[in-house]
Amino acid sequence: MAKVKKVLMGNEAIAWALLAQGATVLTSYPGTPASEILASARKFKAEKGLEVWAEWAVNEKVAFEIALTNSWIGGRSAVMMKQVGLNVALDPLMSAAYAGVKGGFVVVSADDPGPYSSQTEQDSRFLAMFAKIPVLDPATPQEAAEMVRRAFELSERHQIPVMLRPTSWICHGRQGFELEEIVQRRQPISLQKDPAHWAAPPRQRFRLHGELNRKVKEVARANTVELLLGDEGADLAVIASGVPFAHLHDVIKGMGIEDRVAVYKVDMPFPLPPGIESSLEGYAEVLVLEEPGAVVELQLRMPVRGRLDGTLPSEGEYTPELVADVLLRLLGSQRERPSRPKEGHRPRLCPGCPHRAAFWALKEALPGGIYPGDIGCYTLGMNLGVVDSFLCMGASVSQAEGFWIALRQAGLPIPPIGATIGDSTFLHAGVPALMDAVHNRASFVLMILDNGTTAMTGRQPTLATGEEGKRPVSIEEVVRGCGVEFIRVVDPYDVETTIQALKEADRFARGEGKGPAVVIARRPCPLLFREESRGVVRINDNCTGCMTCVHDLECPALEEGDGIPVVLEDLCRGCGVCVHVCPVGAIEVVQR
Ligand code: SF4
Ligand code: SF4
Repeated sequence: MAKVKKVLMGNEAIAWALLAQGATVLTSYPGTPASEILASARKFKAEKGLEVWAEWAVNEKVAFEIALTNSWIGGRSAVMMKQVGLNVALDPLMSAAYAGVKGGFVVVSADDPGPYSSQTEQDSRFLAMFAKIPVLDPATPQEAAEMVRRAFELSERHQIPVMLRPTSWICHGRQGFELEEIVQRRQPISLQKDPAHWAAPPRQRFRLHGELNRKVKEVARANTVELLLGDEGADLAVIASGVPFAHLHDVIKGMGIEDRVAVYKVDMPFPLPPGIESSLEGYAEVLVLEEPGAVVELQLRMPVRGRLDGTLPSEGEYTPELVADVLLRLLGSQRERPSRPKEGHRPRLCPGCPHRAAFWALKEALPGGIYPGDIGCYTLGMNLGVVDSFLCMGASVSQAEGFWIALRQAGLPIPPIGATIGDSTFLHAGVPALMDAVHNRASFVLMILDNGTTAMTGRQPTLATGEEGKRPVSIEEVVRGCGVEFIRVVDPYDVETTIQALKEADRFARGEGKGPAVVIARRPCPLLFREESRGVVRINDNCTGCMTCVHDLECPALEEGDGIPVVLEDLCRGCGVCVHVCPVGAIEVVQR
């Protein structure tokens, strides 16, 4: 097979390898750090003129089921998501492990130790172990690309889904790669129904469970954990998996302590080879280094150092400094554990972001309210005091209903309830919750922040924006289909109209037995559509220097100056929201 040399981001290399290995159906829902995998696959597909299906699905569950089905009839397939997306796809994952596959099926679930852009720093490897499927844990981007081939081969050999678990460093790290060239492949597809696996009734599932257990044992027997650095005479053995292995390798080489530490590398943290403990028994101490959970550590049947005995922190990312510190401590050197890096400035919505305008209107229209929020860049509405909670995708709607039920049940006064959710998140997981709220006639206002894209993860298309050859989904029709009787569509830059629509929605929702009211705040993300700035802000002589505009809006284009605010003209989009914030009318938008 011809090889090509390229400098790529880890996610691009994973996408390249999936296509080079002949995947014909690739599906995903955007989520950092995994988003660039499908985006890159679509780019390579277009460049190479490939006949593959590369889809942004409505959510991870749907994405999983579409890709799995292609594997059932013999095609190689992959589904990509972030770790919390795997929770959404957990239902089909559990059953797919029982049902098995025919064509290779790779589940890429990217973890976010830290976490940098997630609600949790959960470990996808635990869900692989829970579902009883093998998981590969790359230590470098190059290894991630190489593991794609191994994952497909393993999947086909044992007829089982295989997980590839990169972490943020792998996904976003950039390096030179040597990769197999991408060529269009034809898979041996045949629609041969297999009811014994696809449609086994519950009483027969124990048989599939037994089949799965046998597969896991076979995979475990073929797994190996190799001594890659140091030798068996060392004082300390470290068994390392994923990115911490790469840190460990660099730290040991950098400190010149190769003779004191024996390093075993784990490529497949589940299922571990049987009897692995016997090769570790001769060492005075054994440390397990992995992140962000204790998957290997929990499987070892021998005393080890690691997360569970407090040798390593149970949360947060493992940096090279932290790895160096723990090694020196275990080797008897005194050194303080490095402190965690200080927090930087908190993230803010972009200048001219329509969400800022919508949030300001919400605050004005429903003062003293309770504001359930959701997952997306609009979670930053918390900076403006109008996001009180965010749990997971779609939870703003169910929690708005939940607050209404809880306060009503307790006989307490119910303040205005103003929930917010993005367009993509609404379609992903908000729709069933809205149906439930309509069914129960729960009284709250839901503002759908429709900026025409999945902005936070890199501006992927949504089902509502549509793509060439596909039919866009109408958010209004979906909302109406859920049974909502009050729907208004507004431009959030028109702050006064948005405030009036929200007040009207609140009156409607609080009318006896009317149920939720929906306001769709629609304006495209200025970063995506790169529309011309509408002007620039000038501060006039009325300014008292109170800095309300700077602190209450947190627009990056406005900074505190010497007595009056400073407008950063290069950043200002002329959206005019700050005009509404100034209590003395000192802000004007003028043409550039
Ligand atoms: S809110 Fe108005 S008065 Fe206060 S600093 Fe800003 S421009 Fe000046
Ligand atoms: S300074 Fe005012 S007009 Fe300019 S982008 Fe910020 S909020 Fe909009």
